[in-house]
Amino acid sequence: MTARILSMTVPALNNALKSLLTRAGAENPDGDTREILCAVLSCSHHQLILRDDEVPPEIADRAMELGRRRASGEPLQYVLGSWSFMGREYLVGEGVLIPRDDTEVVVTEALRAARRFRDPVIADLCSGTGIIAITLAKELDATVYAVEKSARAFRYLEENLSRHQAKVKAIRADLADCVRDFDDGSLDMIVSNPPYICSEELPTLQSEVQYEPRLALDGGRDGCDFYRTIVRLWTPKLRDGGVIAFELGEGQFETISRLLSENGYTDVKGAPDIQGTLRAISAKRQNVANPFPRRES
Ligand code: GLN
Repeated sequence: MTARILSMTVPALNNALKSLLTRAGAENPDGDTREILCAVLSCSHHQLILRDDEVPPEIADRAMELGRRRASGEPLQYVLGSWSFMGREYLVGEGVLIPRDDTEVVVTEALRAARRFRDPVIADLCSGTGIIAITLAKELDATVYAVEKSARAFRYLEENLSRHQAKVKAIRADLADCVRDFDDGSLDMIVSNPPYICSEELPTLQSEVQYEPRLALDGGRDGCDFYRTIVRLWTPKLRDGGVIAFELGEGQFETISRLLSENGYTDVKGAPDIQGTLRAISAKRQNVANPFPRRES
């Protein structure tokens, strides 16, 4: 049993948390402490610096409990229960992939491409928390479908949709099954951040990643299984001139670029993240034999 904290000032609680995390060998005890305190005190980083008031015991207890979870190795985002992406907060927890800044690259590309269409119809495949679908739905006048297979992830998706009042149709299904529900040529855009880590590499990733669902990370032997499945099954659903946009793992640009060129796509473009890694790829479906004339806007 842990002793109940009687009462503590914010700076004292700050020190107690920091030393708990430092003793546990956390990589960034200062940052983790700040995030935990801001979460339990419902204040901004800026406000936190100015606080030296007493913290009610139940709040201090809660902060220390979150600190202990973090100290045991659980990802900070799961401990906090929410994380922000492109200016919006999303509920996260065990069973769903944590939103990452990397994903801004593909979302930015998708937004740019979608703005050329009027009332675009978009499918976000392997949606997870729904960060891609929700950002697109909030930023565009669009019809957005979000497909997610995992029951646990789907609960987060639904919660996030209602939290943001996003006009997204959530579909809980395997993407190989629900593809039948879409008419050929009915989509203007397909976006996806599929699992793309090579199976063998997974156990070597940092310990926090091991808490995340394998289903959201494992992209098969070379990490590219989902790109192949999506391109093979979903390309007919894109209309002529429609756009596909993927987030990519490191070193996957060449493989996916070839995959797209071989399957009737043109204008294949890569977009880098801040490290200079090609983190997203987009391409246009070129009319092959089956024209779905573009609705001119
Ligand atoms: N970006 C994640 C990672 O490197 C992987 C996400 C994914 O597989 N789509 O941990």
